[in-house]
Amino acid sequence: MSEEKIAGYGLSKAEGLYWNYGVRVKELKEQGQKVIAYVCALVPLEIIAAAGFIPLRIRGDVNEPITKGDVNLETIACPYARSCFDVSVKGRYSFCDGLAIPHSCDSIARTYSVWRYVLDFPYSHFVNVPHTANGSSLDFFRADIENFRKSLEQFANKKISDSDLAHYVELYNENRRKVRALYELRRQDPPLLAGSEMIKILLACLSLPVQEANQLLIEVHEEISGRKENGIKKLPRIMVFGSTIDNPAFMSLIEESGANVVVDNLCIGTREFWPQTPITADPLDGIADRYLKRINCPRTCKERKEGETFADDLESRFGDMGALIRDYAVDGVILYIYKYCDPFGFEIPARKAYLESLNVPVLYIEDEYSAGTIGSLRTRIQAFLEVIE
Ligand code: SF4
Repeated sequence: MSEEKIAGYGLSKAEGLYWNYGVRVKELKEQGQKVIAYVCALVPLEIIAAAGFIPLRIRGDVNEPITKGDVNLETIACPYARSCFDVSVKGRYSFCDGLAIPHSCDSIARTYSVWRYVLDFPYSHFVNVPHTANGSSLDFFRADIENFRKSLEQFANKKISDSDLAHYVELYNENRRKVRALYELRRQDPPLLAGSEMIKILLACLSLPVQEANQLLIEVHEEISGRKENGIKKLPRIMVFGSTIDNPAFMSLIEESGANVVVDNLCIGTREFWPQTPITADPLDGIADRYLKRINCPRTCKERKEGETFADDLESRFGDMGALIRDYAVDGVILYIYKYCDPFGFEIPARKAYLESLNVPVLYIEDEYSAGTIGSLRTRIQAFLEVIE
């Protein structure tokens, strides 16, 4: 894809940024800006941006066989995390100045020292996100992100003021509102925007400074809402649930099989982009609250309250999914989990029980993180769609 296309407008610009992931931050890096690479939805981006750095989400590559990464990481671990590490070892993110890794799951947290040692960035930091979200965990996390702030201040050689933080809280909240407005365009039947298009737009946003991502979202919204004909027909409406699915080919496969992906519960999706950071007198309080309590990821345990029934517990853990199913008139759910992903894998029986209580048909798929396995899922998806129709 040409640089001219990247310089385009709206969807064509997003498409260019998706295919040339990181091209814009590389350009800004050449102009003297510094870039902090990170993984997962749990690194507080507001703090990185307030320190004057551009956050860049590390992606894996479904088309790239894992070769070098497995020299340092065990193979019976999350294939997505291994792919992210593999492409990093191969130098895809070597132009970055630093690395921030959160305590998301064991596949990520337990390998932080390997990432740090092998990649040897001038800056690296581990964001220690607790696994529970009660009062003392919140206090712990608030103190931990204060440390993150201090370490970035040291690396940037500048103070991060509360007003810098408040400014970026507002910009990221605006970003999330704009993404949500795009999701609104998928509620109608047929939706105005395909799931395979949405994932590319979101990835494009994750590769840009937030101000530029906001401008891109304005352009895309204007273009999509003005669409007269988009070729999308009325078909069964599907929700995809999983972790970091960043391969539009999976969404395209569902769409080619005769359905519309109208909403998701994914890290590159509603899980990451919908929760707002509450506005608080001390911006770090709101940031801690968002990243610990509002991102509903199975790696953070929601404790069962005394007297709660099993059904109450399911509603408190998975109610966000039920709300999306109702709001987007979802006809069927595909649970798509990477092999060896413990946090998502362990809760599948409970999640299925919840979906069965809502009478929603479910297809459960466990897969590698590889373009090579996608085609083999076609028959299963087609059979599932036949059940729905
Ligand atoms: S897919 Fe699962 S195991 Fe892999 S990084 Fe995400 S949460 Fe961790």
